[in-house]
Amino acid sequence: MKFRTPETITAEELHKMLDVIEHRILPLTEDFVRKGHNLFGGAVLDPVSLDPIVVGSNRRSDNPVFHGEVETLLRFYEQKDRPKAEETVFLATHEPCCMCFSALAWCGFKEAWYLFDYTETDKDFNMPDDLIMLKELFGSQDIRRRNSYLNLYSIKEAAKQSEDAERLMARIESLKEKYKALPVVL
Ligand SMILES: [Zn+2]
Repeated sequence: MKFRTPETITAEELHKMLDVIEHRILPLTEDFVRKGHNLFGGAVLDPVSLDPIVVGSNRRSDNPVFHGEVETLLRFYEQKDRPKAEETVFLATHEPCCMCFSALAWCGFKEAWYLFDYTETDKDFNMPDDLIMLKELFGSQDIRRRNSYLNLYSIKEAAKQSEDAERLMARIESLKEKYKALPVVL
């Protein structure tokens, strides 16, 4: 498969990822948050069309390790005729925590994208655990987004370089407001 990078991804493809978040992941998350779960979500995408093969959203009240990414992986591996992980694209609404980033590597994903970064999860969503856990458990301030297992890219960084940057950034800001409005219990 042909991998995308922030330098090669098109504006249309970035809009498609935002469509998946807005129209497929967020409605599921709105439902799950009302049941006491957290606001993080994910999707496994077809590598060509970027259509979602599965979407998932955090189910922390059922099990604290059922993060948005883990829940998406559980759904993905329930599918009988699924493609190989390395032949798909992983999409996360928020930058994957150290557990979920490792899970993506264990599964064999090669290309992953996220919308909101650790700093936003900390400051805008008041959840600093990604950064605290990195420091406390691994003595690290950050993850290695480009490594021999997979590459993890920021949708926002790619959007800033895009020919349609203004519209993409406006959509991202609007999505952030929708996420911030979710009634999550901290
Ligand atoms: Zn996680």
